[in-house]
Amino acid sequence: MISEFADLHIHTKYSDGTDTVEELLKQVLTTDIRTISITDHDTAGAIPEAQKLGKSLGIEVIAGIELSTLYKKKDVHLLGYFFDPHDKKLLAYCDKFREVRETRAAKMVHRLNTFGIDITMADVEAIADGAVIGRPHIAQAIVEGRFARNFQEVFDKYIANDGPAYVDKFNIEPGDAIKLIHDAGGIVSLAHPLTVGDDGVVAFLHNLGLDGLEVYHPQLVMAGCVKHYHILASRYGLLVSGGSDWHGRRKPHIKLGQAKVHLSHVEQMREVAKKQRK
Ligand code: AMP
Ligand code: ZN
Ligand code: FE
Ligand code: FE
Repeated sequence: MISEFADLHIHTKYSDGTDTVEELLKQVLTTDIRTISITDHDTAGAIPEAQKLGKSLGIEVIAGIELSTLYKKKDVHLLGYFFDPHDKKLLAYCDKFREVRETRAAKMVHRLNTFGIDITMADVEAIADGAVIGRPHIAQAIVEGRFARNFQEVFDKYIANDGPAYVDKFNIEPGDAIKLIHDAGGIVSLAHPLTVGDDGVVAFLHNLGLDGLEVYHPQLVMAGCVKHYHILASRYGLLVSGGSDWHGRRKPHIKLGQAKVHLSHVEQMREVAKKQRK
């Protein structure tokens, strides 16, 4: 039986997931889910390929992306859905952020070197293998170089947001991120709102045109916060999205479809995107 639910938060090798598009879609076929969105960080590179292969396998792949912004110095991740993956402005943004992330990774590697962690940018690039570089790639280089036992140790000791080797990157403003996705024909949902830890962000983003809230995410399910965010979504008239935030082997405790959203919510998202495009 095909599930009535969708997983709308998935990363691939195009950013910091470990699956190729083909590997991911084969994994999806082992579950009962047949509607997904790929939401790589700062790139929609996987979408055309995934939509084409998905069609032949009976999986709907909704265009997705995850953009990092800041609110009161805290990471705010915005998920874009149903946009045109070939939109020129969006592609220009992605190109720029690929560079921004490379420069920032090089700075972090340099700082790590001063702490005696002898990794090189070439190590990180080899692990990223063409992907948009993120901290998880750096963490893997450190673990593989045996300078730390595991990912969490790397983050806790060095590269968490308040860590000594952390380097800020230039981030897009929340309002600009929302406009970028809207202009590309899509809608925007606030990812894992518990990470921000300040519900004031919902009102703030709502004023800037936010369309939805990621009510279903492993973090919210585990913390027992799903109901709280459902209520918040209705209060602001926001759409409801959800997904597992699958990163493949890089987050082995997560399962595909571990957090999912009912297809009725997906249809509402699709409708709002369609209306906004008119
Ligand atoms: P970046 O986009 O390069 O800033 O990397 C962000 C990613 O790093 C997040 O999506 C998480 O997967 C991971 N991350 C950030 N902070 C932490 C942390 N404190 N502990 C573990 N993983 C983290
Ligand atoms: Zn990620
Ligand atoms: Fe995120
Ligand atoms: Fe994510």
